[in-house]
Amino acid sequence: MQQTAQHFDLLIIGGGMVGASLACALGNQALRVAVIEAVPFRSASQPSYDDRSIALAYGARKIFEGMGLWRQVASIVTPIKKIHVSDRGHFGTTRMDAAHEGYPALGYVVENRDLGQLFAKQLASLPNIELICPAQLKNFAINADDAEVVIERDGQVQTLTTKLIVGADGGRSAVRQLAGISHTTDDYLQNAVIANVTPGCDHQNIAYERFTESGPLALLPMSGGRCSLVWTVDRLKADEITAWDDATFLAHLQERFGMRLGRLQKVGQRHTYPLSLLRSDEHIRPRLALIGNAAHVLHPIAGQGFNLGIRDVAALAQVIVEAKETDIGALSVLNQYDQWRKHDQDCVIGLTDGLVRIFSNQITPLVIGRNSGLLAMDMIPPLKRALMRQTMGLAGKLPKLARGIPL
Ligand SMILES: Cc1cc2nc3c(=O)[nH]c(=O)nc-3n(C[C@H](O)[C@H](O)[C@H](O)COP(=O)(O)OP(=O)(O)OC[C@H]3O[C@@H](n4cnc5c(N)ncnc54)[C@H](O)[C@@H]3O)c2cc1C
Repeated sequence: MQQTAQHFDLLIIGGGMVGASLACALGNQALRVAVIEAVPFRSASQPSYDDRSIALAYGARKIFEGMGLWRQVASIVTPIKKIHVSDRGHFGTTRMDAAHEGYPALGYVVENRDLGQLFAKQLASLPNIELICPAQLKNFAINADDAEVVIERDGQVQTLTTKLIVGADGGRSAVRQLAGISHTTDDYLQNAVIANVTPGCDHQNIAYERFTESGPLALLPMSGGRCSLVWTVDRLKADEITAWDDATFLAHLQERFGMRLGRLQKVGQRHTYPLSLLRSDEHIRPRLALIGNAAHVLHPIAGQGFNLGIRDVAALAQVIVEAKETDIGALSVLNQYDQWRKHDQDCVIGLTDGLVRIFSNQITPLVIGRNSGLLAMDMIPPLKRALMRQTMGLAGKLPKLARGIPL
């Protein structure tokens, strides 16, 4: 006897930070949603909820507020009250201060593992969401009225049907590949080295972004007086740098960063990530939408990747909820999501990529230009405010969730 396939209104492939956010955003809606995630949230090898910490922009806070999740997220974050940007060995500096701009914080630092635990708890509490994990997407077929999705779970192959497949399965998206959607990649030939560092002085909730000849480095304020380091280095040197003993690592870092946080005392385990810009050539097809890293992977220079992804979530969730009485997988519905997101994605990708290129270059006119830019930013408040609104995720036509309004 043939078994009927289990049906869901929506199948989210990938329960990483962006996929889980979408599921939370659709919690308690009259929609049956399943999240297919390959690696358990608490597993040491979970690729999204790993040892990184990320900076959530103020705009991400508004989205969590809209989802009714901010109270829980607030309990695991460290606020960024000020940002200090400098170019090592040059005159340019820019400072941003939340209090001056009338915000409680410019952003918040969260440990990915903590966010993973929070999402796992939240998803388990939502009656309309089913987390199917560990399970892997194997194949799918798009039909006129639905899509058939083949997954492997506990060594068993299973077919599910749905109105809409959302690819939230990261930079190497199987959804994107199986759909035959092409993408462009621009390899920066750089790696990010990440670690937790304990400075000698109180970080005072200041985030530092320092551009150096060997690449930008960021030190973000964390709990327990620690700072989260993201150090961009030449790919060829990344393995050597991660293998340095603690004292050598701290000495080199101190030399690059300077004494703004006093003498650096301690460094934790190092991890390294190859960096490239990836853009999917299409973000929608009938019954299919891509969000987060499946659609765009950015350099972490300005801490924008997840923040852009959660804004995809806010727009797609709204479009889906508004169409829930009709067909949420129809191209006309998904087109609204695609059109809505294009401008923000282009701006953030352009800004991030531009920063990498301008600050990875030592040609004299460029060095003078970028330092004048930093100074101008410091001295011309409207310029600074426009950049802040963009990087804080507050620019353009905002979806309801991004204004803190529930769906
Ligand atoms: C060093 C570094 C620092 C960063 N700092 C910041 C920052 O400060 N601020 C910021 O906003 N962003 C930052 N980012 C970017 C941020 O980490 C990403 O944008 C974010 O992780 C994207 O989330 P995602 O859910 O789209 O993809 P991922 O995190 O890649 O998650 C994809 C999920 O899909 C699952 N999956 C994959 N294939 C399948 C399959 N076939 N079947 C089932 N499941 C599957 C994976 O197991 C994973 O859980 C940083 C990135 C790096 C590398």
